[in-house]
Amino acid sequence: MKKDEVVRIYEKYVMKTYARVPLVIEKAKGALVEDIEGRKYLDFFPGWAVSGIGHCHKNVASAVCKQAQKLMHVSNNYYSALQARLARKIVEHSFPGKVFFCNSGAEANEGAVKLARKYGQDKGRFEIVTMMKSFHGRTLAMIAATGQDKVKEGFEPLPSGFVHIPFGNIEALRKALSDKTAAVMLELIQCEGGINIATEEYIEGIRDICDKLDILFICDEVQTGMGRTGKMFCYQHYRARPDIMTLAKSLGGGLPIGAMVASSKFADVLTAGSHASTFGGSPIVCAAALGVFDAIEKDHLLKNCLKQGKYLTGKLILLKKKYKVIKEVRGMALTIGVELDAVEDEGDRIYRKCMEKGLLINCTQKKVLRIMPPLTVTKPQVDRAVAILDKVLKDIA
Ligand SMILES: *Cc1c(COP(=O)(O)O)cnc(C)c1O
Repeated sequence: MKKDEVVRIYEKYVMKTYARVPLVIEKAKGALVEDIEGRKYLDFFPGWAVSGIGHCHKNVASAVCKQAQKLMHVSNNYYSALQARLARKIVEHSFPGKVFFCNSGAEANEGAVKLARKYGQDKGRFEIVTMMKSFHGRTLAMIAATGQDKVKEGFEPLPSGFVHIPFGNIEALRKALSDKTAAVMLELIQCEGGINIATEEYIEGIRDICDKLDILFICDEVQTGMGRTGKMFCYQHYRARPDIMTLAKSLGGGLPIGAMVASSKFADVLTAGSHASTFGGSPIVCAAALGVFDAIEKDHLLKNCLKQGKYLTGKLILLKKKYKVIKEVRGMALTIGVELDAVEDEGDRIYRKCMEKGLLINCTQKKVLRIMPPLTVTKPQVDRAVAILDKVLKDIA
């Protein structure tokens, strides 16, 4: 099939819920993707942060192929050794507790909110405080939770029980609390929101408040989890620990899996019959996720993430010195935002021009280039990506 034909079929048969760029991807390996016409691209935003250890990682591919011959799905009223092993693996890498498996980030967050409500029910606590510029998914409850109007428009009335406050402001949180508050939910780095990073004091403050009121502190690590910030989970950069952490995106190395991890105190709040997912934690996605952990551990990918993150950030700071359009470079390891002092659609234009020259990145909030290469990225690949961005910025200046 030719590119134009694929696009034509989409026009006719696929809902237009995405602003797609005309690129038909045919295959990929690591940080390289190839389109249907054989053109190669360097992917510095692989699968919208899903292919965190690179496309088609050998550990994941071989685990999935093997498991596909053996057992793909069992219903959750039976046991499977792979789900057991993955739950233990996640807990061993985070904090003592238990895991609920689902299929996406939005579902993991829904599960977290349900757990918090169940815990607060006897005390009349049901309200969830979330942050402006957050992103928690696209179900009705999660667009209600998300602190951005653009995701809500046209879908009202939305589920109630969510309160939004400015990110990073502990006073605003204190003011928003009431005897109805059940939980505080946030991303430690607002990725969709433009790579906004929570400070140590802010997170300590939230932890304090949650302890005093006996309410839950929920961290949405759907995008920051699985090594992308140089630690397995982003909360590990902070002294405080969440009560619930949600995961999805790169957990399955390309396969759809979500997880809601609750610390021991809250691990048994959801009881039999109170929450479920038909596909959640099937053997095949658990095999994939175990392959991801295996790769991160055995190939020392956290170390590479820190090293290449530092190197890439350094190079981007050099670009900032060269081009006025770059306002700030910020991030943690390989989770990087380049904020532009951009007019109108300049951010969009830069990311499209990068694509034309063979580099895939993302632009969020109209003016923040989101650069999140896989943890397996190499120094020559970083050099090549920065050279392309340099050229694009030069053309624009
Ligand atoms: C992508 C994302 C979600 C939603 O995940 P889906 O798998 O698309 O439902 C939720 N929270 C954060 C922080 C995300 O980045």
